[in-house]
Amino acid sequence: MKWLPQIKTSEVMHFQEQPLDPSFFSEGSEDFRNKAKHICQYCAKPFTCHSKLLRHVRVHTGEKPFQCDVCSKSFNQKETLKIHSARQHNIFIL
Ligand SMILES: [Zn+2]
Ligand SMILES: [Zn+2]
Repeated sequence: MKWLPQIKTSEVMHFQEQPLDPSFFSEGSEDFRNKAKHICQYCAKPFTCHSKLLRHVRVHTGEKPFQCDVCSKSFNQKETLKIHSARQHNIFIL
């Protein structure tokens, strides 16, 4: 895993405490929650339209249950999603 930055555990903890980019929370805004009437029965993720929910639910029922929140790509192992997320989006899933 050459692409991983050399970080120590203490630095990982520090990273978790950093405030995240506010845009990351846009889907959690009050406005979004008011519009999001369709809730995933598996992970409680809210969706604004039924078709989006249906497409999302497949990540739980299909053979690739781990979905990237950024680009919706699905993976059959959490490790693979972690690697994808770090490489493609610079987001480190702990
Ligand atoms: Zn879900
Ligand atoms: Zn992605």
